[in-house]
Amino acid sequence: MSESRISLFLVPTPIGNLKDITLRAIEVLKTVDIILAEDTRTSGILLKHLEISRPLQSYHIFNEHKAVEKLVERMRKGEVFALVSDAGTPAISDPGFLLVREVLSAGLEVQCLPGPTAFVPALVNSGLPNDRFVFEGFLPHKKGRKTRIDSLQEETRTLIFYESPHRLIKTLEQLGEAFGADRQACVSRELSKLHEENVRGSLAELIEYYESNPLKGEIVLVVAGKEEKKETREERQASKMEKWNKSE
Ligand code: SAM
Repeated sequence: MSESRISLFLVPTPIGNLKDITLRAIEVLKTVDIILAEDTRTSGILLKHLEISRPLQSYHIFNEHKAVEKLVERMRKGEVFALVSDAGTPAISDPGFLLVREVLSAGLEVQCLPGPTAFVPALVNSGLPNDRFVFEGFLPHKKGRKTRIDSLQEETRTLIFYESPHRLIKTLEQLGEAFGADRQACVSRELSKLHEENVRGSLAELIEYYESNPLKGEIVLVVAGKEEKKETREERQASKMEKWNKSE
């Protein structure tokens, strides 16, 4: 799809280290008609740093339902927009999905640029299997929280959660009750920033660690899936080998 036919670009921005902006992200942000931003002040600072001066318009969860129709109308008339969030990839635990869906159903085209997002480095840093994984985003804070956790008890794929630091211990305890306290996990904190830290261990060990090392900053929690029967993993490995052999 040629870039000239795109009405909406989703542009990932750094999750900490400003050097993680891509050359293409800068190019797209310099050429669109309008940049939609979750927080115009936060994005304004980044854009100033990148010497980009395009008009900024606010787009966040509190106005997105109202804003979408007007935005799509403007795209129909030929205006090209970029959507950025405060950090990372728009629409990943951030506003964007609604706009993408409406732009597509209006017969227009969207393109999400590859770029920074917190869950990929957290998953890879964890050292847990990453051939199959489930991104759970934020758990519900109250209603539905236990039901959601219980629904993951039989999940064999690696689980990824976004969590706030002040809720981490409670989450580790609740996951420990549901999955068993010896389940392996990793807490990635301040990814790409000066004080990045990846702490690996069982849920019980992580609780002990964070009880004596109070947590600050942004975090991603990665938890091993339920252990599969040995044969199942071996069988999968064997069928992978078979496929490779056939393709050679
Ligand atoms: N759109 C973003 C993305 O692509 O990852 C996620 C936005 S969500 C509102 C914010 C959450 O992402 C934080 O609460 C934290 O769980 C995670 N996060 C963002 N930046 C991070 C960082 N530098 N280190 C660890 N986690 C981070």
